Amino acid sequence: MDCLFCAIIKGEIPSTKVYEDEYCYAFLDINPQAPVHCLVVPKEHIASADAISCDNAEAVAKIFTAIPKIAAKLGLTNGYRIVSNIGDDGCQSVKHLHFHILGGKKLSENMA
Ligand code: AMP
Ligand code: ZN
Repeated sequence: MDCLFCAIIKGEIPSTKVYEDEYCYAFLDINPQAPVHCLVVPKEHIASADAISCDNAEAVAKIFTAIPKIAAKLGLTNGYRIVSNIGDDGCQSVKHLHFHILGGKKLSENMA
């Protein structure tokens, strides 16, 4: 399978690592849309949030326990936003589940 984020996790494509544990890998987005823009991905390939099931939910739960640590590491003491795009209408460009962590300023109230 040809997956950009699987290649990043394996170190085949360089990235700026922010955090890593047994379940997830976090790195800076190459095209930041906020002063702080980080991506968190499960090490296991899951196509999108629409493919979350009882079989892979543990990896997702682990990501959400890592996110506060990642946010603290990024200095996001005043809040942040988590976004996950799904499919064509959601404008998902990489088909490996990822959560955008956006912050470092007061974000737009408009989400769509
Ligand atoms: P999405 O559009 O929700 O699928 O998000 C994919 C994100 O991956 C975009 O914000 C891209 O800027 C980001 N991205 C694409 N290639 C890379 C890369 N090589 N390193 C870091 N981020 C990337
Ligand atoms: Zn993948």
